Amino acid sequence: MVQVFLIKYAEIAIKGKNRYLFEDALVRQMRRALYKIDGQFKVFKESGRVYVKAEGHFDYDETVDCLQKIFGIVAICPIVQKSKMNFEELKKEVLAHIDSEYPDKNFTFKVFCRRVDKSFPMESNDVNAALGEAILEAFPETKVDVHDPEVKINVELRPTLVNIYSKSLPGQGGMPAGTSGKATLLLSGGIDSPVAGYMIAKRGVTLDAVYFHAPPYTSERAKEKVVDLAKLVAVYTGPIRLHVINFTEIQLYIYDQCPHDELTIIMRRYMMRIAEMIAKESDSLGLITGESLGQVASQTIQSLAVTNEVCTLPVYRPLIAFDKDDIVKVAKKINTFETSILPYEDCCTIFVAKHPVTKPIVKAIAKSELNLAEKIDEMVARALETREIIDVEA
Ligand code: ATP
Ligand code: MG
Repeated sequence: MVQVFLIKYAEIAIKGKNRYLFEDALVRQMRRALYKIDGQFKVFKESGRVYVKAEGHFDYDETVDCLQKIFGIVAICPIVQKSKMNFEELKKEVLAHIDSEYPDKNFTFKVFCRRVDKSFPMESNDVNAALGEAILEAFPETKVDVHDPEVKINVELRPTLVNIYSKSLPGQGGMPAGTSGKATLLLSGGIDSPVAGYMIAKRGVTLDAVYFHAPPYTSERAKEKVVDLAKLVAVYTGPIRLHVINFTEIQLYIYDQCPHDELTIIMRRYMMRIAEMIAKESDSLGLITGESLGQVASQTIQSLAVTNEVCTLPVYRPLIAFDKDDIVKVAKKINTFETSILPYEDCCTIFVAKHPVTKPIVKAIAKSELNLAEKIDEMVARALETREIIDVEA
């Protein structure tokens, strides 16, 4: 069996010189993803179009599912693709397509012809009219509706090929992975940060990730859970380099030296500082967090200002205005939710105070951090040196 899919992408964003970069990145991502599933696939470009050709044994649903996870694809259209032909042959192909795809012929339709091949002897409108007539004659239950047809029958007359299709399956949208530089995701085991990483990666950004681990307060299982989440996110984003930082010593030191109601905010400032150091050494141009305004004490507008103060790179917080329900919806859609809710402890939950400050003031926090002056630099250096690097792939 042979099946060809026409891949539609958002062309508006990629006029001019960037177009081939975008298309090449898309083709690369498609090949990478299809390589992992059963079947023989050919991904090819033909004058401004991208196609997938599946030959021999392959699973239709699995192939569509795989393509639906690739950033940059707006729609996937299963098509009948033939080489250039005359009108009589075209008519036969269109009727055969309708007959096999629509057992129930009780539908309204409109024919949309795009004649790219100007040597084809009929104009688009004439093709539309002639094919419309032929369809009505062959299938008298059908009706024409030019305003709001149930079935849109697309006929593309291209220089060497003819494409016929009437179905369009939605894609992820966004931009292909690897077209917009790199950013570093602070990835915890929670619901939010995997969603945040997915959203920024959807704009074409490659991800690195940092996880702050606090053994023995957080278990090996908690770390494995984060690796599993990175794997699930990598289904969409491509490979992720995950830096696992041992944060225990720093957390205990903060716990000993600073007021307990300020622990969370000070800890978060050190997470951001360390994440930024990792980002800068690997040419990452931003940080990403799963923070959402007002969700918890450390995410009030005041807390975010104090956390942000230690960063020089832009911090992307794509969930900032999301309600939890909306975040959960995305987490379910991208299949991270079930893993995120596994009950392994999070390093923040162990050291949280009963009544953390909700309106911290930068000056006061910076003053408390002076209590750390003696050892914090060497501890941060040690945390960076002893980090574990895990290259995660889907
Ligand atoms: P999440 O569901 O992503 O864990 P959360 O609602 O639990 O978020 P916080 O624990 O306040 O919120 O964390 C806010 C953000 O800080 C997280 O979304 C994540 O980006 C980052 N973060 C928190 N804990 C860690 C950690 N142990 N390692 C790496 N990043 C972390
Ligand atoms: Mg968390």
